[in-house]
Amino acid sequence: MAIHVFNTLTRKKEVYEPVRADMTGFYVCGPTVYDYFHIGNARPFIVFDVIRRYLIYRGYNVRYVMNLTDIDDKIIRRANEEGVSTDVIAQRYINAFFEDIQKLGVRPADVYPRATQHVQDIIDLIQKLFDRGFAYESGGDVFFDVSKFPNYARLSGKKIDELMSGARIAVDERKRNPLDFVLWKASKPGEPKWESPWGPGRPGWHIECSVMSMKYLGDTFDFHAGGMDLIFPHHENEIAQSQAATGGDFAHYWLHNGFLDIHGEKMAKSLGNFITARQLAERYRTAAIRLFFLQKHYRSPIDFTEEAMDAASASVVRLATSYQRFAEAAGDAAPILEPEPRFSSEAATSFWHALEALRREALELMDDDFNTPAVTGKIFDLVRETNRFFERGIQNEEDRRLLATARSVLDEFDSFMGIIERTAAATVEAEKIDRIVQILLQLRQRFRQEKNYALADEIRAQLGEAGVVVEDTPKGPVWRWKN
Ligand code: AMP
Ligand code: ZN
Repeated sequence: MAIHVFNTLTRKKEVYEPVRADMTGFYVCGPTVYDYFHIGNARPFIVFDVIRRYLIYRGYNVRYVMNLTDIDDKIIRRANEEGVSTDVIAQRYINAFFEDIQKLGVRPADVYPRATQHVQDIIDLIQKLFDRGFAYESGGDVFFDVSKFPNYARLSGKKIDELMSGARIAVDERKRNPLDFVLWKASKPGEPKWESPWGPGRPGWHIECSVMSMKYLGDTFDFHAGGMDLIFPHHENEIAQSQAATGGDFAHYWLHNGFLDIHGEKMAKSLGNFITARQLAERYRTAAIRLFFLQKHYRSPIDFTEEAMDAASASVVRLATSYQRFAEAAGDAAPILEPEPRFSSEAATSFWHALEALRREALELMDDDFNTPAVTGKIFDLVRETNRFFERGIQNEEDRRLLATARSVLDEFDSFMGIIERTAAATVEAEKIDRIVQILLQLRQRFRQEKNYALADEIRAQLGEAGVVVEDTPKGPVWRWKN
């Protein structure tokens, strides 16, 4: 089956048709590096990593580019607060970004272009827009003239007068039209600046993405992605600038992830309701964080709760333990690859057919706009089927080969999902710790029944010092690691 993707530009699912045969270009708007990123920001990093990996799994030669916005108002503000240069701030949070995506199991992009390293390219593109009559200068700032671009706002599907009356755009007498947006900002005293034909200044945010995507992927490329809040104005403006400059197509497929909410509100820096990715990674395993995100479709909203994270943690431990059990029992047996194998028992035949069906169904689900929640369900179905087969006893080479087949299907799925932990040590260790904590909790319960509260509290306090938080729930005590 062909891959179908929901394209924000057309508001429908379309068959993916590559722009060119030799390369699939994929651009994701990356972080502004002025602080640690939060788990709302982590969502695009994780879900587009999975989509990219799936395209690779399906045989596409994906070139994946993510920009790093290393100059902007927030970075300047932060640098001033700390009395250091913007480079110091940017470099610190770029380093942190790389550490954090690794903790999320996100594969590095092929290119991470930085805005400050592409200022000349940006100036060249702005010059081109000038030459073609799409840009004008006003008091050292350069603006894009939206009225010259007839298809403006096609992505967000808004009407120009609707946008105007939306009036979220501040009135600015330097602009010809309130919707015009900045391409080049004149520098204020004390701000970092670059020389340009319009005087010293720095690039606007939107132009950075047009320049760096086209530089590394060509003027016309396949996928452009980011959070839903980027549709307007960021992506709208990117389209206008790029198409105005080249006269041709820009990105063909526009992918947007839904928001991560917490207590019914969008998680955002400005609302102060955020948890950083590194805080989360201290408490939860990589696979659990990925499973939490992949259990929801990338375009749907997702609600962050501790309960959901705990459930995801429990699931990935079960998944890893089952996987290891199958892999050990399979030993070095080879998976069964022939299309119509013959088996010696009814149980073997039906298990093989179940594996086949689950594999086919899971791939069809991924082909249908990357339905990772349904694929997750198939993975757990596969584990359940395999456990059932396993529990009837593994007797011969045929049985072992069937387990090897189950393991290899799981490997296939996990090449893009990344939710199965392979390190036996990690799982075994986690299980041992849990076992030991449970023994202590049982002892504590016993002391409480015997009304020996001093000793019961002592156990709790000592566990607390070791980083274990104990909570009493109606179902009995539960524990978790401290933040
Ligand atoms: P920002 O730091 O706000 O520029 O966001 C960086 C990226 O994270 C963008 O692609 C945003 O759309 C995305 N993003 C920010 N907040 C959330 C959220 N709560 N849920 C999902 N994506 C988000
Ligand atoms: Zn961007």
